Amino acid sequence: MAGFDTTPALPYNAACDERSRSLVAVSVVTVKFNVGQLLKSAVGTSQQYDLNEDIVGVDQDLQIVEPLVGKIRLLRTSDGILVTGRLHTGVRLPCRRCLRPFTLPVDFDLEENFYPSVDKSTGGAIPIGDAEDAATRTDGHRILDLTEVVRQNLLLALPMSPLCSPLCRGLCPGCGADLNTEPCTCQSEEGDPRLAVLRQLL
Ligand SMILES: [Zn+2]
Ligand SMILES: [Zn+2]
Repeated sequence: MAGFDTTPALPYNAACDERSRSLVAVSVVTVKFNVGQLLKSAVGTSQQYDLNEDIVGVDQDLQIVEPLVGKIRLLRTSDGILVTGRLHTGVRLPCRRCLRPFTLPVDFDLEENFYPSVDKSTGGAIPIGDAEDAATRTDGHRILDLTEVVRQNLLLALPMSPLCSPLCRGLCPGCGADLNTEPCTCQSEEGDPRLAVLRQLL
């Protein structure tokens, strides 16, 4: 993948403290990184991670059926950490035309700045400004939680009209037949002499 350095990928989540790991154990979906060391590192230092994370349930309206996979890079900047990466997952949802559920592969990019919530020199909390999103703050334990940012970017990557195939033929508005798998019966009913007789009786 272009743009990434070749430093070996580091473990994530497991590197977080006991408290956050116990949260993972009660099936709260989290994608967390301990960035304590990175925050102490020189500007320009980066860490790369290979993700393979179960994010089922990260959004209550989304049926996520594939793990979140991809590479992300955490870069120490002068005022925080820049997270970039390209991620992939799969979401099960109904086709807009034929209404059948199908699995949509979703690829999306991340590019988010995270700012420390605790001042390095004073240990005091840095207030969140009006323009800043609380989702992009590291917490007092130096844990960078990517979960909400992943959820938001995943939602933005979904198409307005998901189609099981660009060639999906959809449902016949007359007889409701799924034209991908069965013939429309509208024409044949009109042409069927037995039905024509019935129609005259009505
Ligand atoms: Zn379809
Ligand atoms: Zn029809």
